Amino acid sequence: MTDIDYDLMVIGGGPGGYVAAIRASQLGMSVALVEDKHLGGICLNWGCIPTKALLRASEIRHILDNVDEFGFTISGIKMDINNITKRSRKVALQLSSGFAFITFCKAPFFLRKSGVRISIEVSGEYFLISKMVATK
Ligand SMILES: Cc1cc2nc3c(=O)[nH]c(=O)nc-3n(C[C@H](O)[C@H](O)[C@H](O)COP(=O)(O)OP(=O)(O)OC[C@H]3O[C@@H](n4cnc5c(N)ncnc54)[C@H](O)[C@@H]3O)c2cc1C
Repeated sequence: MTDIDYDLMVIGGGPGGYVAAIRASQLGMSVALVEDKHLGGICLNWGCIPTKALLRASEIRHILDNVDEFGFTISGIKMDINNITKRSRKVALQLSSGFAFITFCKAPFFLRKSGVRISIEVSGEYFLISKMVATK
């Protein structure tokens, strides 16, 4: 087992996690960020970003359906749902892949792509836990 010292460990690389990790790092802490599935979490990979890309496609379709109001005539418009979905996935990938936002802000923190399980020592006994509530 290797001991590595960090001031802070953030579990989860979604918006909650990466924003906290970047900020802590900017404030001078050494930070470990651990993500076990997709960097960027739900928002960048499945939620906010890809759904807004789909929404944009529907807005464009609406504009195209109404261009005659503005004096244009367009014919032969085809909607390809596979290509619309492909673009949405591409936009999501652009934002999440390579963890571009970290490189961008040059936050010097360590990233490990794996799940975390925490063991806590209580009076000499170790408990492996999946969720923890800490109060102080
Ligand atoms: C369809 C959809 C559309 C949305 N649109 C919007 C929008 O337009 N605007 C908006 O503000 N919000 C939107 N949201 C909500 C937004 O996605 C969430 O609020 C946001 O992702 C929450 O961020 P989070 O970091 O708390 O959690 P998450 O994004 O869920 O990230 C948590 C991360 O932790 C990781 N993780 C969990 N357990 C472990 C472990 N043991 N070890 C390591 N990693 C772990 C997970 O893999 C995950 O990547 C939308 C959500 C959905 C589903």
